[in-house]
Amino acid sequence: MPKTTCIECDAVIRVDDPVEGDIIVCPECGVELEIIDIDPLDVDYPLDDDWEEDDWEDED
Ligand SMILES: [Zn+2]
Repeated sequence: MPKTTCIECDAVIRVDDPVEGDIIVCPECGVELEIIDIDPLDVDYPLDDDWEEDDWEDED
């Protein structure tokens, strides 16, 4: 079974049938992780939509 390490608490997480883009929850710390790669299995914090896009702001 594919496995990876929680980026929050370093717990080993096994995912039965990983799908890229899926959200999994760490059984140890409960953090939500998005599967960003499946071979090898890798996860990252999911992108939230709870912030406004500031694309119009001139950052020059
Ligand atoms: Zn964890």
